[in-house]
Amino acid sequence: MKIAVGAFSIESNSFAHGVTSLDDFKKQIYFVGSAISRECAGPTVELAGAWDVFTKHGVEIVPTLVATSSPRPPVTRDAFEVISSGILSAIPSDVDGVYLSLHGASYCEHDDDPEGTLLEMVREKIGPEKLISISLDLHAYYTKKMLAHADIATAYRTAPHIDLYETGARAAQLLVDALAKKQKPKVYRAEAAMITSAERHDNTKGPFKELIDLCRNAEAKPGALTVSLLATQPWLDVEELGWKVIVTTSSADVDGQTIADEIAREAWNRREQFMETVALSPTQALHEAVTAEGLCAVSDLGDATNGGSPGDSTVLLREALRSRDSGTFILSLADAAGATYAYQTGAGKEITLSLCDGAPGEYNERTTITGVIEKVANKKIQYTHPAAGGSLDDPGPSALIKITTSPLTTYLVLHANPVRVIDPVIYELFDLDVRQFSAVQAKSPNGFKVGFARVTNEYRLANTEGPTSADLFTLTFNKRPKPLFPFERM
Ligand SMILES: [Zn+2]
Repeated sequence: MKIAVGAFSIESNSFAHGVTSLDDFKKQIYFVGSAISRECAGPTVELAGAWDVFTKHGVEIVPTLVATSSPRPPVTRDAFEVISSGILSAIPSDVDGVYLSLHGASYCEHDDDPEGTLLEMVREKIGPEKLISISLDLHAYYTKKMLAHADIATAYRTAPHIDLYETGARAAQLLVDALAKKQKPKVYRAEAAMITSAERHDNTKGPFKELIDLCRNAEAKPGALTVSLLATQPWLDVEELGWKVIVTTSSADVDGQTIADEIAREAWNRREQFMETVALSPTQALHEAVTAEGLCAVSDLGDATNGGSPGDSTVLLREALRSRDSGTFILSLADAAGATYAYQTGAGKEITLSLCDGAPGEYNERTTITGVIEKVANKKIQYTHPAAGGSLDDPGPSALIKITTSPLTTYLVLHANPVRVIDPVIYELFDLDVRQFSAVQAKSPNGFKVGFARVTNEYRLANTEGPTSADLFTLTFNKRPKPLFPFERM
């Protein structure tokens, strides 16, 4: 059995400024041909899970190309063409099947549906009979093109996402099984015309758990191989935006449509429950966080770097500078020019910096700080959050700056490149124990709760503006379908 393996994985954000270039992938996870290994993208990501299954079954693995990025702005045309042609050209004509690790909500500057396009290209190359299996993020939105070309599709079952490995392993196992049994599986899809703020996507409780449980129950039905709820990341301005349910059956003779329709209807029936929010105003969230007993995480919902925001929001920094509370607060900010200058200035020096480029009133409004550079660093971080699968990231030149111009002592970790703040590793870059602080900033709607659990279980959600705002009404959608909940309350 010969299976070609590859990855093109990035969650794109239509509202974030800038683009994601080939260089951005190369700074993160980018491997071609024989450089690809089980662990190249991280020891517990989808690729590793699939690799282990294929190895166990004696599959001849044909590595193609692996390109993975943290959530970012739209991918450049050039990057997509290099990545897609790299995957395509490495697929031999005599393969039995193809496994691709995708995200399901990526976006290119020239193509709203690059993953659908990639699958179409693979299908064209291998023909209609050979099998394509894909693994996806739960925040995929599964387009018509993806539906047309994938034979097996399965997504994470957890949010926060901690089952990357299992999802890759499942996609691989279903592919091996189908090939062994000479089956031709089929994916069915149902839509629920809704998007919801990601901080309510929690598989451990409430309506989201109920829906995930329905998927598990549905998998007990004969011929239903895998059932996935796709809750769609909401910061994407595309025509096919909206929740989906996908069901892979063992053949076209099994009715997966009824299963998908039923769960999509249950999701729709719960739509108003996803509008309840526990997010606080930025002022209140920071106040409660710094005055809470012990360390408290305050998550910056509008600047969620795991939702594609560039990590350059100054909202909480400005709140800290205005705060009348005493205590200590540590936060992170991506600003290439400021970080590089601070890094070059070096530890021990006082520094005044004008940070970020936003106009007054914007989420990344230019903000001036004065402080002392305590430490500098320029090395990679390794995420400890299970959703990152042990992967590395490069913050670039970085500095730890202590700002003492307000009653609240603020420590700013300034870094050149955006990073995910789903766990405390960006702060630990400076050998800090974040438990010494009153409050620490996270940048994620939900996933940070798992990542920061090793330092605190106390948190507040700050309803900040920005490219990943929890308040979807603050974002300007041009292409989204209509009607779509919550914009049209049908
Ligand atoms: Zn996700």
